[in-house]
Amino acid sequence: MRDHTLVQQQFYSAIIIYIMSKYDHIKQSAYEVNMQLPKLGLVLFTFGNVSAADRSLGVFAIKPSGVPYEELSPEKMVIVDFDANVVDGKLRCSSDTKTHAVLYKHWENISGIAHTHSVYATAWAQAQRDIPIFGTTHADHNTIDIPCALPMSDEMIKGNYEYETGRQIINCFKEKNLDYEEVEMVLVGNHAPFTWGKTPEKAVYNSAVLENIAHMALLTEQINANAPRLKDALIKKHYERKHGKNSYYGQ
Ligand SMILES: [Zn+2]
Repeated sequence: MRDHTLVQQQFYSAIIIYIMSKYDHIKQSAYEVNMQLPKLGLVLFTFGNVSAADRSLGVFAIKPSGVPYEELSPEKMVIVDFDANVVDGKLRCSSDTKTHAVLYKHWENISGIAHTHSVYATAWAQAQRDIPIFGTTHADHNTIDIPCALPMSDEMIKGNYEYETGRQIINCFKEKNLDYEEVEMVLVGNHAPFTWGKTPEKAVYNSAVLENIAHMALLTEQINANAPRLKDALIKKHYERKHGKNSYYGQ
């Protein structure tokens, strides 16, 4: 009988160790990419959040809500499924978790999402403007204007706000006929940017690139309010450099 109890105990502790370690890789990954945000100057205080998904497990790790960056650790990350149910973690998950969940659920080829209120990208979101493609820095990453989704309706805001934010992004891509694997960034009108990618690192990279493009576009308009958009020949050249059969882009 005693042997039986011992075996049972060992069995349960093995399960607990398995469950704990099962998510360690995405907790570690989410921790590392979240720590990139303050280093890149993309966040103030606790603003911003990045998540890291494991598609085979159907979950993602996201930053806990309201914890300063210097107090974060991999263990503090919260594990959530694509319906935004918390699966593992002691802290409250980021308030933007439902937006991340909706995007993961609908866009099957992304495994990282970043959200910041970085100053220049957010300024364009507040102005409710697409960021015009003015130069080749922009064209190296996107060959169209960076889309700005419409501000959300009163019904959406009163309802399941964070979930609806995700829906608003997906609807914007449908209406504008955009491919989420081609354009990995969006501004949400009145709010701020969201970026994503095949990896959490790419999502953060895209946040930094977007901020840079947003800054340059603002300066361009200040210097010349009538600055023309990038010539079609250059847009085509940069598109082909990235996607054509003879693509060679990668500085
Ligand atoms: Zn936000």
